[in-house]
Amino acid sequence: NQQKVPEIKYVPTTCPFCGVGCGLNLVVKDGKVVGVEPWKRSPVNEGKLCPKGYGCYEFIHSPDRLTKPLIKKDGKFVEASWDEALDLVASKLKEVYGKYGPDALAFQVSCRVPNEECYLMNKLARVGFKTNNVDNCARICHGPSVAGLSLSLGSGAATNPFADLLNADCIFVIGSNAMEAHPLVGRRLIQAKEKGTTLIVADPRYTLTARKAHIYMRFNPSTVIPLINSMMYWIIKEGKADMEFIKNKTKDFEELKKTVEKYADVEALTGTPTELVKEIALKYASAKNAAIVYCLGITETTSGTDNVRSLANLAMLTGNIGRPGTGINPLRGQNNVQGACDMGAYPNVYSGYQKVELEENRKKMEQAWGVEGLPGNYGLTLMEQIDACGDRVKAMFMLGENPMISFPDINHVRECLSKLEFSVVEDIFLTETAQLADVVLPAACWAEKDGTFTSGERRVQRVRKAVDAPGEAKPDWEILSLLGQKLGLKGFDFKSAEEVFNDMARVTPQYGGMTYARLEKPEALVWPCPTADHPGTPILHTQKFATADGLGNFFGIDYKPPAEVPDEEYPFALMTGRLLFHYHSGTQTRRSKQLHNEVPTGFVEISEADAAELGIKKGDRVLLKSRRGEVETNALVTKDIPKGVLNMTFHFRECPANLLTNTARDPLSKMPELKYCAVSVEKVKAR
Ligand code: SF4
Repeated sequence: NQQKVPEIKYVPTTCPFCGVGCGLNLVVKDGKVVGVEPWKRSPVNEGKLCPKGYGCYEFIHSPDRLTKPLIKKDGKFVEASWDEALDLVASKLKEVYGKYGPDALAFQVSCRVPNEECYLMNKLARVGFKTNNVDNCARICHGPSVAGLSLSLGSGAATNPFADLLNADCIFVIGSNAMEAHPLVGRRLIQAKEKGTTLIVADPRYTLTARKAHIYMRFNPSTVIPLINSMMYWIIKEGKADMEFIKNKTKDFEELKKTVEKYADVEALTGTPTELVKEIALKYASAKNAAIVYCLGITETTSGTDNVRSLANLAMLTGNIGRPGTGINPLRGQNNVQGACDMGAYPNVYSGYQKVELEENRKKMEQAWGVEGLPGNYGLTLMEQIDACGDRVKAMFMLGENPMISFPDINHVRECLSKLEFSVVEDIFLTETAQLADVVLPAACWAEKDGTFTSGERRVQRVRKAVDAPGEAKPDWEILSLLGQKLGLKGFDFKSAEEVFNDMARVTPQYGGMTYARLEKPEALVWPCPTADHPGTPILHTQKFATADGLGNFFGIDYKPPAEVPDEEYPFALMTGRLLFHYHSGTQTRRSKQLHNEVPTGFVEISEADAAELGIKKGDRVLLKSRRGEVETNALVTKDIPKGVLNMTFHFRECPANLLTNTARDPLSKMPELKYCAVSVEKVKAR
């Protein structure tokens, strides 16, 4: 009477949430994922996970998963076969292409999906429709990092690995709440501090990360440039600039020097006492090795690219780049932000940042892809695509994107999407955006397919299939391959994710030496890895910068105020941020019981002083209004936020912060100003 012992399988893979890229094992029993175990051999997380990582499996078997293709008929979705759905998508996209030309089509892909699928989206847009209108959602998180770091250093990526923070004598964290948004980098900050590293945190809010700092520097939202310029002023004035490094490795120092001379005292603008700015500047500059860590507090503004270039100025001014324990490290929000950009899901470059405007690159890709006439114009960026709906853009393909929650000014997004002649959404749930589409294609989630993610430290790691997708859902790479075949395109007959990876690696210099076999080991490979025997490159710019002449570029950058500042009607500055227990539009984390129980509802943080003036108490319902919309939510009265400033997350669809946010953009990266807009707040009267 022996009972059968259920077989338990452990499948090593990579966390699907933030850009730290923790390794974990999915625990599989009876064909279902029943738990998660941190992957102890992963050098990224060394057997640890954050709460999001532990909760990452719970949405996989949700009854809400999409299982069949859906076609909208008479305003209602009806189930369809794959053949019927893909035939319709192919014929509609061709029809729009034939009627209006290549740039009437637009393609958006999420940074949550693996490299293979981002690469195929880029290939589909360019090979199938001769358009560069393809973009990914890095545009609205780290677009300014790509633009700013490329302009300053020649490469738009983090310079050093996360574990290398332990080699720093001083770490300057600005605009990043790593303890909540990137907890396993937060762990590195604590480890470094315990080893004796000085930890400085600059942020408008007294965050969980700020609480861990030796020195906390509060500054007014959107005043990064005067703050950093002032730090540089004091570094130069006190003779702490690394003149040897500046002379040998950089250019245009005089331009920077002249600019920062105007920023000796910035207290009126930043709210930060000059003595504190000077103290921190000298601490950073005097350290033998000093590292910068930053995140969306730097990028999600109309000055995003300039903010990033300011941090690059600071690192180069002190020679803190190109060695262990130094560098400038953007913390990528989504698991594959780095990869989606690397893969050429970007309107001005092919994979590997090969510019579309250069004829030699177009010729190279035409030959590799067996196609002619690739366009050299810049395509439309994410928000430009939205604005152009119904006008230049008539049809849109959105893979894993949910602009109805995550883009600024949701009312505007809804209005624009409604003007499309045809839209298709590929996703795992019927999201707010999918509900507006003409066709919805059901996708496998990350636990149900193979692939790779590239983390924020440029580490290319394997994603491994643990279970089957529900119903008829398919991996995105397979859907895009089938669609390519329906369109009659050459080079879309892929049988596996590995074949897509190999197709990508042969045209992408940074990934040229990578294969799935080489990525098997827990430490995987860090790009650039150009040849089969190359070990990968954890630290960039060790000899020279990746610019055309090998020199780092200084820029003299002046302060510009945000696009919309508080006034009498809208007297508060609204910031937006993330929580430890939730992730982006909440589609997945809000379907995790454990994460939902931690924070079940949204809220707005308001200072004790403002709350007292407005008669608002903790838990009161409050109404926020901006020029674009209004949102009702709960008040969280706190000491951690300055007077005149409010803070919300955008995880909660019942009180979406992005009804309020501003679409004004950074001119270089086209990043919208998600981190700053003017709002009013009032207590909701009892009904
Ligand atoms: Fe996942 Fe990021 Fe948490 Fe690591 S730190 S477990 S990658 S969410």
